[in-house]
Amino acid sequence: MRAGRVTDNEDVPTASAAASPLDESMRCPCLSGAVYGECCAPYHRGVAQPATAERLMRSRYAAFAVGDAEYLLATWHPQTRPAALELDPALRWFRLDILARTGGGVLDTTGTVEFEARYRVRTGAEATAAPSAGVQHENSRFARVDGWWVYVDAA
Ligand SMILES: [Zn+2]
Repeated sequence: MRAGRVTDNEDVPTASAAASPLDESMRCPCLSGAVYGECCAPYHRGVAQPATAERLMRSRYAAFAVGDAEYLLATWHPQTRPAALELDPALRWFRLDILARTGGGVLDTTGTVEFEARYRVRTGAEATAAPSAGVQHENSRFARVDGWWVYVDAA
């Protein structure tokens, strides 16, 4: 997934980029149906590792939703990982749909997950002419590094 809206206007005011930690009793933003504390939060805190590529994909989507750039970098393949990642605080990710997947299971070493992630631009952040909502459609590639799933790139 891309880090945020593309903007060519450096004067656009941006809200604080600080991550807003989500209450762990809230429903997880990956929409698994579980609460955040029993779903993606343990991955974000580094106390658990996703066992499948889809699980990693969902936890990375949730990291976008809660503004956890550190987790996104930590779960990026070393060969494709950007030096830094700045998330756009104006984007509110509100829906994830998994469309298809290949491999990525507990016995696999590679996998793909095709998804659609939807966002709205937060009220008060609409200073640009950018659309107020959008959808990110991507077929992501995943691989194992040292046994753990990482994001490689968009297929
Ligand atoms: Zn989750």
